[in-house]
Amino acid sequence: MKALTWHAPRDVRVGEVDPPHLVDPLDVVIRITTTAICGSDLHIYRGRIPGILPGTVIGHEYVGVVEEVGPGVRRFKKGDRVGGAFRTACGACWYCRRRLYTHCENSMIFGYGLFFGSLQGTQAEYARIPFADTTLFRVPPEVTDEQAVFVGDTLGTAFFAAEIGEVQPGDIVAVVGCGPVGLLTQMVAYTYGAAKVVAVDRIPTRLAFAERIGCIPVNIDREDPLAVVNRLTGGRGADVVIEAVGTEVALTLATRLVRPGGVLAVIGVFAEETFPFPIREAFLKGMTVRHGLANVHAYMEEALAMILHGRLDPSSLITHTLPLEEAPQGYLLFDRGEALKVILKT
Ligand code: NAD
Ligand code: ZN
Ligand code: ZN
Repeated sequence: MKALTWHAPRDVRVGEVDPPHLVDPLDVVIRITTTAICGSDLHIYRGRIPGILPGTVIGHEYVGVVEEVGPGVRRFKKGDRVGGAFRTACGACWYCRRRLYTHCENSMIFGYGLFFGSLQGTQAEYARIPFADTTLFRVPPEVTDEQAVFVGDTLGTAFFAAEIGEVQPGDIVAVVGCGPVGLLTQMVAYTYGAAKVVAVDRIPTRLAFAERIGCIPVNIDREDPLAVVNRLTGGRGADVVIEAVGTEVALTLATRLVRPGGVLAVIGVFAEETFPFPIREAFLKGMTVRHGLANVHAYMEEALAMILHGRLDPSSLITHTLPLEEAPQGYLLFDRGEALKVILKT
């Protein structure tokens, strides 16, 4: 089958690889119809994630049709149209029974290498989906592939961000980063009742998008986000700040924007072992800091309902739809910030 494989930093290729087969009774194999490039794939692309062997199929956002079904799968049958989470969850372990799917004892992340279960990714014609009953959701006929492909990662993550950020009606929220995750988090923050969302980035097209959805855009190269947030809040700082970048600079800025007693939700992926963090400021403000990989399984149904009933449309982020063969070009454009969301069709 055709698939995109990683070889070295900024070297990804489309070629032939062996197709997946059922390995476990709880697996299904799906034929991918739509997949996408996530900001977390960019970390791999840029060589920041350890444990990716050359030749690994990457990608973890997907919609497809069930082709083969393991004998232990109860919820799905051949021909079902499905989407799924960026990582698997067994549904049965101590963590899954408490809906803490992120910490599932049997979890693997699609296309994320040795340290996340060596599971092949979804930027391919077919993918093996372990623990299909918990990992997948059924796509309602009214929801397009281009909407459903966001549910199990980017949009689910946006809900997770608003949730761990404890966004309350009337809050002033700041979101550092206006990539797909940041922009969807801004949309979700409004659905949670945020009074105003400040959107921070430096890419003009992304800031313009944020402005169109009702945010106050702040270009960090031209304006001090702290001054903007202080103006809005009588000098207090934002009630909730969501970091949606994944760099030390962005995390430091996010910490500065939080009001005393406020909440900092860190959604960006960090691969470094350690780096400096403004702990004194965080301590003196007594802020709550939450972070981690998103517990997306817990939000997939809510995310689907919001799309189904027209409350938000993640497909509005799509700037490029390319055939899988042109995925390397999609990576190039996304890496440079010239594409906002790249969708790949098989
Ligand atoms: P992206 O790379 O498209 O977005 C990052 C944005 O941050 C870009 O628009 C960039 O211009 C902006 N940026 C860079 N430095 C900045 C700074 N100092 N201040 C403000 N903005 C800055 O990626 P994305 O798809 O939107 O994902 C965002 C982050 O979320 C990534 O780190 C990704 O790995 C992570 N992520 C985490 C989870 C999770 O489970 N926690 C899930 C999905 C994505
Ligand atoms: Zn992702
Ligand atoms: Zn589990």
